[in-house]
Amino acid sequence: MHDEREWSLPQRALVAGAGGFIGGHLVSDLRKQGFEVRAVDIKPLDGWYLRDDGAENVRADLSLLEESRRAVQGASRVYNLAADMGGMGFIESNKALCMLSVLINTHLLMATREVGVERYFFSSSACVYAADRQTDPRVTALKESDAYPAQPEDGYGWEKLFSERMCRHFREDYGTATRVARFHNVYGPFGTYSGGREKAPAAICRKVLEAKASGDHRISIWGDGEQTRSFMYIDDCIHGVNLITDSDRVEPVNLGSAELVTINQLVDIVENLAGIQLKREYDLSAPQGVRGRNSDNAEMLATYGWEPSTSLAIGMARTYAWIAQEMGLSTSS
Ligand code: NAD
Repeated sequence: MHDEREWSLPQRALVAGAGGFIGGHLVSDLRKQGFEVRAVDIKPLDGWYLRDDGAENVRADLSLLEESRRAVQGASRVYNLAADMGGMGFIESNKALCMLSVLINTHLLMATREVGVERYFFSSSACVYAADRQTDPRVTALKESDAYPAQPEDGYGWEKLFSERMCRHFREDYGTATRVARFHNVYGPFGTYSGGREKAPAAICRKVLEAKASGDHRISIWGDGEQTRSFMYIDDCIHGVNLITDSDRVEPVNLGSAELVTINQLVDIVENLAGIQLKREYDLSAPQGVRGRNSDNAEMLATYGWEPSTSLAIGMARTYAWIAQEMGLSTSS
């Protein structure tokens, strides 16, 4: 078990998936908190979205037990943000690849058990929720208990639900202090905005910027645009990860915004930022995911007295500005 005296020493954290969007932000935050961080990702270092030179940055394949063993050495905390994933377009056509992420969580848990850590955090997803509760755009927000009876998103969602259970059984059988958050759509600067793995907020920013720059004032929207979602700004996500990891609550908890919008409303926000109105072309054959999804934050509020609250208007303004800069485009009208 954890020795109280160790708290006064610099804490050492392993961030798995540190070259990715959320992992990169988490590394920066943990370093600000005074952690010594080992940041690990399978991607070459020059492909990481954010890289903190004060961290120990390592390229490794954590789906391999030996590499997971090396990665956890000396860590008092493990944050597993590593997964092969992307937006709807990616997860609907890469189910086997998504399922293979089970190897990362499994091997990290096995390696962690051997050394013993104070906390193990796993990033699960709203894709664990049963599809038949998400057929109406006027959604009833998803409660943690809605994950069962199990009918998650094919591929990606099943992997997350299985890995949640691995965390639970490692805690029950071996005493590994696992904590699990179910992220609902996270967005913000320093993430993917092109290439096929991007999600709706970043994809819409890119499409609006491209339309504005090219003078071809049309935008292609997946589905009829009336599907609903909530989107959580990255700073809220990182704050929630810290609260959940530090707390005594062991059951999975939603970590998402409760500000529900249609995709059309999300496009409105970005058009306003760009000072432009585009002709919307709806692609009904494109992947759309569930019809409506929102996060019920009652358990989050009851446990932590907090919920994600950055408004979409503010978060999208920051995201739009960052993507414009990355694309070498101006944000002015
Ligand atoms: P991301 O794709 O930006 O980051 C994941 C990182 O994991 C990538 O950099 C990838 O290279 C790395 N990775 C993949 N396989 C690996 C391996 N074998 N070894 C080491 N690293 C490997 O994704 P993200 O948006 O930062 O998401 C982080 C976590 O949160 C993931 O588990 C994801 O499923 C979960 N999640 C994200 C969202 C979201 O909206 N972004 C929503 C729900 C859940």
